[in-house]
Amino acid sequence: MSEHPFFFTWSAQRGAKPVEIVGGEGASFDVREGERVERWLDMGSLSYQANLGHGCRRVIDAMKRQCDELLLTVPSGGYPAKDALARKLLEHAPPGFTKVFFTLGGAEAVENALKIARLATGRHKAISRYRSYHGATMGALTLSGDHRRPPLEPGLAGVVHVLDQYESRLPGGARVIEGGADASAIARTIELEGPETIAAIFLEPVPGANGALVPPAGYWSGVRGACDRHGIVLVADCVLDGFGRLGSWYGFERLGATPDLITISKGLTGGYAPLGAVLVHERIAKLFEDRVLLAGLTFYGHPIGVAAGLEAVRVYEDEKLVERAAVLGARMGAEIAAMQDRRGETITKTRAMGLLAGLEIAGDAARFTRLSKALDARRVYTHPNARIRTLIVAPPLVITEDELLRGLRAIEDAIVESA
Ligand code: PLP
Repeated sequence: MSEHPFFFTWSAQRGAKPVEIVGGEGASFDVREGERVERWLDMGSLSYQANLGHGCRRVIDAMKRQCDELLLTVPSGGYPAKDALARKLLEHAPPGFTKVFFTLGGAEAVENALKIARLATGRHKAISRYRSYHGATMGALTLSGDHRRPPLEPGLAGVVHVLDQYESRLPGGARVIEGGADASAIARTIELEGPETIAAIFLEPVPGANGALVPPAGYWSGVRGACDRHGIVLVADCVLDGFGRLGSWYGFERLGATPDLITISKGLTGGYAPLGAVLVHERIAKLFEDRVLLAGLTFYGHPIGVAAGLEAVRVYEDEKLVERAAVLGARMGAEIAAMQDRRGETITKTRAMGLLAGLEIAGDAARFTRLSKALDARRVYTHPNARIRTLIVAPPLVITEDELLRGLRAIEDAIVESA
């Protein structure tokens, strides 16, 4: 038996070891490694939630103040921070979003978005993509298309997966679209499934953990058109892409279509406390004026998460971090393209939007393992996904340009060393 009393997630337990993060500052975090404490450069924002970087004083202090003010309340509890956060989240959404449903994390946001869509439409089916991740609870996992779902099936009835569509850059700058350039595959699936049975379509703006799959231009507006034609609720799962990751507030803004529901978490508090939410457009929200919203959680709008979220949003605003992510993201994209041109035999495809990028690496699993180890040796934290041979890069929005360039140089060195 493993010596630790808690389970490690997504992992066999034998040999699994805790990562002892003991502190951090900005884009770096400190890890106890035996007798020593090593400083790592965070090129992955931990689990994609540390958008504000490490040691963010403002959020930490806001949580401390909230502890003195109020911690214990009821789901229907009203207090100033809850109201203020809901208003701020709606302010940053496109016009027409009028309600927030609070949750504790991303999967719960997805679960509740599905419930809202089912209750609103009276239909039960949902469409999502194969290379997607929407969370680990049974409903969200059923929507997820990646390898984590099949071993746990059967999941929810009525979830239909479609193939992914995305555009990559090849060495030299040519571009290739996989899965088709428009939304006709989704439109066809809707027809075959029966439009009157489909409650919702769930899409991450840019599927993150499955390889930073940037959709072709026109894809989102095509899906939006199909949803409009058939009264289907379009859900943008912005849990990973939100809060500046793609250089915009929630992530879908640059893709040319507005959803009906927006799910958020992770960067919402910068990772300092658990919180998620569903933002709801008025055309859906108004249906619940007289109809019961059959959804709730004991810790709905818990003050500690809300205090962290409210201060986090103020930090994004005051420090103009979303705008910063757009500028730094353009720099990161250009640097990765140049790296790909230098290492074209290894970095076969790249995709990037804002501060989220995926680098597909040629070679077998052993080579990919060598690459991960070479990055560890350099104390550079990224998301190497061996299954899809893709290195995913997602630094905190507060990373300095020098740190970003240092991180990218380390990635290139590790790629060369692992050949
Ligand atoms: N949706 C997306 C797009 C995600 O990336 C994730 C987590 O990685 C989730 C939902 C689930 O969030 P949580 O782990 O907070 O339940």
